[in-house]
Amino acid sequence: MASIPRLYVQQPLGEGQSVTLARDHAHYLFSVMRRGPGDPVEVFNGTDGEWTCAVADAGKKAGVLTCLRQSKPQLAPPDLWLMFAPIKKARTDFIVEKATELGAARIMPVGTDFTNSERLRIDRLQAHAVEAAEQCGGTYVPPVDDLAKLDTVLQSWPSDRALMFCDEAKVGQDLSLPAAPGPWAILIGPEGGFSDRERAQLSAMDQAHPVSLGPRILRADTAVVAAMALWQAQLGDWA
Ligand code: SAH
Repeated sequence: MASIPRLYVQQPLGEGQSVTLARDHAHYLFSVMRRGPGDPVEVFNGTDGEWTCAVADAGKKAGVLTCLRQSKPQLAPPDLWLMFAPIKKARTDFIVEKATELGAARIMPVGTDFTNSERLRIDRLQAHAVEAAEQCGGTYVPPVDDLAKLDTVLQSWPSDRALMFCDEAKVGQDLSLPAAPGPWAILIGPEGGFSDRERAQLSAMDQAHPVSLGPRILRADTAVVAAMALWQAQLGDWA
């Protein structure tokens, strides 16, 4: 049986609700996927869970779906922010995709002293998060923030949010994730690592916990996946 297409829409969902399709969704469903009237489509909007819909009207540039029944309840990820220093475009795209699949609640690109990256297109990164959520069966799309400076973000850091500071300078030391409940964030540095100034700023924060990701230096995109897996298994929704 052909798989059921899955779409993220920005419209309310509920029993009997009509969903009007934007041009790109109509093109995808009817021209690319060759679906037609009566065919099922799964739809989510980030707040109302996942709904199984049926195609009510199929056109080349537009279309309408009708919501039949809720097929998944809304599932919010744990309260985990991912902060990372952007790297090369394809690797930054990878980070956003993997962070969405692994269940980040918010994705925050931060500029650090040694960040050197091409211009960031937040709209493109957000579109990657949407695609990853569509593909992985999630019902939540993490917002991707505009680029902010790490020191500015740290200056107004919430007192109740623990920070998993992944520090490559701690390679070889046995530093594990403390079992503190509550809101968390993960911080991954750029290819160039953190500056002494940033390390000093972080070590002065009670909320920051330096953590090692093992005896090898990982690339930033690998470190994101490793850190999120570790956190999810110990404190998140895998635990
Ligand atoms: N330029 C640095 C490496 C940076 S790796 C150097 O050569 O020393 C990019 C980021 O991934 C780091 O800033 C850190 O946040 C994370 N990272 C990579 N390997 C790690 C490890 N073994 N332990 C903790 N964090 C790590």
